[in-house]
Amino acid sequence: MKTILITGGAGYIGSHTLVECLQAGYQAVVLDNLSNSSSEVLNRIRCITGVSPIFVQGDVCDAEVLTNIFSTYTIDVVIHFAGVKAVGESVQDPIKYYKNNVAGSLVLCQIMCNMNVFKLVFSSSATVYGDSRDMPLREDSLNTSPINPYGHSKLMVEQMLSDLAKSDPRWSIAVLRYFNPVGAHASGLIGEHPKGVPNNLFPYVSQVAVGLRPFVCVFGNDYPTADGTGVRDYIHVVDLAQGHLMALNYLNAHNGYFLWNLGTGRGYSVLEVIKAFSTVSQVDIAYEFLPRRPGDLAECWSAPQKASLELGWNASLDLNSMVTDSWRWQTLNPHGYDVEEEG
Ligand code: NAD
Ligand code: UDP
Repeated sequence: MKTILITGGAGYIGSHTLVECLQAGYQAVVLDNLSNSSSEVLNRIRCITGVSPIFVQGDVCDAEVLTNIFSTYTIDVVIHFAGVKAVGESVQDPIKYYKNNVAGSLVLCQIMCNMNVFKLVFSSSATVYGDSRDMPLREDSLNTSPINPYGHSKLMVEQMLSDLAKSDPRWSIAVLRYFNPVGAHASGLIGEHPKGVPNNLFPYVSQVAVGLRPFVCVFGNDYPTADGTGVRDYIHVVDLAQGHLMALNYLNAHNGYFLWNLGTGRGYSVLEVIKAFSTVSQVDIAYEFLPRRPGDLAECWSAPQKASLELGWNASLDLNSMVTDSWRWQTLNPHGYDVEEEG
């Protein structure tokens, strides 16, 4: 049985990927500092899979913690989710982003090298495409630079990983550029619960539908799109998690550096998302038009063909499943993993 180290495995995408990996027969060690997650997720994962993953609370920047993990367990492959991800915060506090995302990845790779582990899957983001208008975005659509420190931090790690793979043929590295991960596990036991006011559309709309917030602020209705609101390539988090399993299979058979978009290849507007939530929840969701959010693109969607051809991976869950599963998670866990009410 192969053992995976999943950094950030208590987080939103990490927890869903952990479920898929356990169900596929992998053993897992989770490293997470719980800065944006709760240890309750591990209980929920045990309920879904019947397995308790090994959990280490610690920081991916901590070389000693990592060395201990690699010395204690025979790790075959690492999936590296741990990092910080709020675009706006990255502009205010870039050091936090370069430390957690860039320095954390550097320490991880250094210790992997020391301990002779050379298989890695890395969470990158469509943010690396900056304000490219080259829709649909292909893996080689890097004709503009990222427009915020978060995007820079992801692109810097991609560059480092590409250089590493060139330097030593033992490396086998998959970089996955996610589009807009949404939805939740069909069990309703795990999902995303952002701290404070959600930045992202899906959690915001579902908090309005459940009555935690009065209306959705629609940022811009004057974009050159069909209904004037922003268009994004939303992808169900379970499809995304399965993409990681396909990447693991690929790395078992290939050495080198590989890069794939994980998206559905189609976009939905803000108003289409609100309408889908209203239909599924049977709640009339109030919204108001506000000015555009600074830094937002009109539209962004992926060309997912490379992952389809090379990994045999295709997203299969549609907008209705994304909304249905988000809504189930939201209604069963209105305060996420917390038992306390939030303000
Ligand atoms: P998340 O915040 O839910 O999960 C990240 C996890 O990493 C959290 O559990 C957090 O506690 C942990 N963590 C953060 N810094 C750490 C550190 N220094 N050491 C150890 N643990 C640490 O985020 P997510 O949405 O699951 O994202 C996972 C990865 O995917 C991130 O790297 C993110 O940048 C990337 N990504 C996310 C999205 C998205 O929209 N959710 C899109 C593209 C890429
Ligand atoms: N959006 C919105 N109201 C919100 C959050 C987001 O209108 O409260 C819009 C945003 O302008 C964009 C789309 O919804 O057009 C998706 O935004 P999100 O932050 O979820 O993803 P990202 O912009 O990072 O792709």
